[in-house]
Amino acid sequence: MRDDAPAPATLERVRRNLVGLRMPRALEVLDHVVRQVERGEIGTLEAVDALLAEELTLREGRRIKAALQMARLGVVKTLASFDFSFQPSLDRNRILALAELDFIRRHEVVHLLGPPGTGKSHLAVALGVEAVRAGHSVYFASLADIVASLARAEREGNLRERIRFLCWASLLIVDEIGYLPITSSNGNLFFQLVNARYERGAMILTSNRGFAEWGEVFGDPVVATALLDRLLHHAVVVQIEGSSYRLRQHVDLVPDTMRVPSAALTQVPPRRRGRPPKARPSAPNAT
Ligand code: ADP
Ligand code: MG
Repeated sequence: MRDDAPAPATLERVRRNLVGLRMPRALEVLDHVVRQVERGEIGTLEAVDALLAEELTLREGRRIKAALQMARLGVVKTLASFDFSFQPSLDRNRILALAELDFIRRHEVVHLLGPPGTGKSHLAVALGVEAVRAGHSVYFASLADIVASLARAEREGNLRERIRFLCWASLLIVDEIGYLPITSSNGNLFFQLVNARYERGAMILTSNRGFAEWGEVFGDPVVATALLDRLLHHAVVVQIEGSSYRLRQHVDLVPDTMRVPSAALTQVPPRRRGRPPKARPSAPNAT
């Protein structure tokens, strides 16, 4: 027997140990790797390397799958599948810089603004996927769903727990701000969440409405001003000015009046006088 051919008893022990260590992928490829060693195609260290790499790839895949489900990112969109040439107003390098994820480590807020169909949700999900791959916890929901869950929690007397749950992820993605108007009491609940996350966790917000319209969106200019105060403090604003990817084959059919002028989106409303909404005593970490 050659030096590098393991004794059957040793091979059997390695098998049992891989089972005991719960390393199914290494177990699966063990025979193949051993044959490669026997044929002199790879060295012993390379064999160990191959077994560990196979197992790690399997585990990473499982971790990412579970984390993507927990994040509720829905249909997975990636930066690779985003056609930047369709949105020339969008600076590709700026998006790729965001994908480095420093904004998560710095607890910043990224605003993706633009008319419907310009890829805001796609980019938000794609950045969420990058964050999951890098090992960050992510949670994705529409503003309507977040606000509905906060209102339900308040009715049921567990608002504090719900806010704590929504502070759990290191990146919270709030999609579709502005599609449906929010009542001022719901705006106030959202303010409590934003206040709890302020300087503690990163957010990505997508909206088809300009900051100047947030008074309308949140049903109260005072709530809107207090929200913007927190959400624009450590913020990156990405403005997409282009046409809808959904309607790209039918652009001739869309009347001019439906094309949203996007230059106005980043205007901030004048500061209103009045007290910001009070963070209720039940809001944890209110500052
Ligand atoms: P928004 O959130 O701005 O309304 P979405 O991100 O939902 O728009 O985009 C609408 C659809 O078009 C999605 O299926 C998305 O994947 C796709 N899409 C949008 N922009 C692009 C793009 N530049 N490249 C590839 N697919 C895109
Ligand atoms: Mg969207």
